[in-house]
Amino acid sequence: MTRGDMSALLSVRETVADWLRSGEIEVFIGYEAGTVPLRATPTFIRKPEDVDRLIWDATCENNLVAFLPKYRGKKVGIMVKGCDSRAIVGLLQEGQVIRENLRIVGVHCPGVVDVRRVAAQLGVPVENIDDARIEGEQVIVGEQTLALRDVLFAGCQTCVHHAPAVYDVTLGEPVADSAEGDPFAHVREMEALSADERWARFAQELERCNLCFACRNACPMCYCNICFVDRTMPRWFNQTTQPEDKQFYQIIRTFHLAGRCVGCGACTRACPQGINIRLFLDTLRADVQELYGYDAGEDAEAKPPLTTYREDDYNDFIL
Ligand code: SF4
Ligand code: SF4
Ligand code: SF4
Repeated sequence: MTRGDMSALLSVRETVADWLRSGEIEVFIGYEAGTVPLRATPTFIRKPEDVDRLIWDATCENNLVAFLPKYRGKKVGIMVKGCDSRAIVGLLQEGQVIRENLRIVGVHCPGVVDVRRVAAQLGVPVENIDDARIEGEQVIVGEQTLALRDVLFAGCQTCVHHAPAVYDVTLGEPVADSAEGDPFAHVREMEALSADERWARFAQELERCNLCFACRNACPMCYCNICFVDRTMPRWFNQTTQPEDKQFYQIIRTFHLAGRCVGCGACTRACPQGINIRLFLDTLRADVQELYGYDAGEDAEAKPPLTTYREDDYNDFIL
């Protein structure tokens, strides 16, 4: 299937309708056309006759797995991109979902469009993009045409997780890994800086943060019933937009994701301030891969590195 192959999508819609009819699922979480250009919106299909709302294209940017913890114990269907599916693996590992309760449409995903990149290429604010659509491998904005590959989300351009890790049915043809080089090239640039320069970069990036917590809300692996930011007994931090509060929040959230973040980029895309959260998270993802040989979201039976112990674990940091 190429992007927009209607016959493959029709077949998936029929499968979802069958799951709903037979009672295998109570609800299917997918995408429908959005009201904002180049952005699909999550949709919750409960009746077989509503499956025609389901779409799949490069505007389907949300990681819908973020909704799954709200349906604990229910029978749920869901559409996931390659990277998103790895979050299901993570939730299975952490006992948050039961595989038998899920019906998964796994998409072989060529990438999702980054509206900020579209705006940057056109030299206009994002909010000025009001007439845009995707046709094949092109993004049409008003009278202008951009190549879709040039305006994909940065993580998609070096993606090595196009294929779903867990699924019942698939959508799309397998996608070859990007030839555009090291998925952690942005991390290497950060690592090449001195400690002071890295801190300055981190602090500068967070100057724009307004502590809206959209990054947390978009993340499938941030599912605590009460997040540390909302706890009042004890209160962990003051929730002001003073630099130390913003830095505290990001450091704690990032470390809570160590060895668990699957690199889907949903948090970064959700940030209204355009903060490069991906840079912080990928720094820890790269460390976990290099120190423990572990790539989160690969294997539901694997033991996550931060909850297990091996005698040959890296331990030079222990005095
Ligand atoms: S990171 Fe990979 S799987 Fe995820 S949206 Fe981008 S191309 Fe698709
Ligand atoms: S922290 Fe961001 S990139 Fe990592 S799993 Fe959560 S939403 Fe995806
Ligand atoms: S989404 Fe962006 S602005 Fe909001 S808390 Fe996260 S980093 Fe800060």
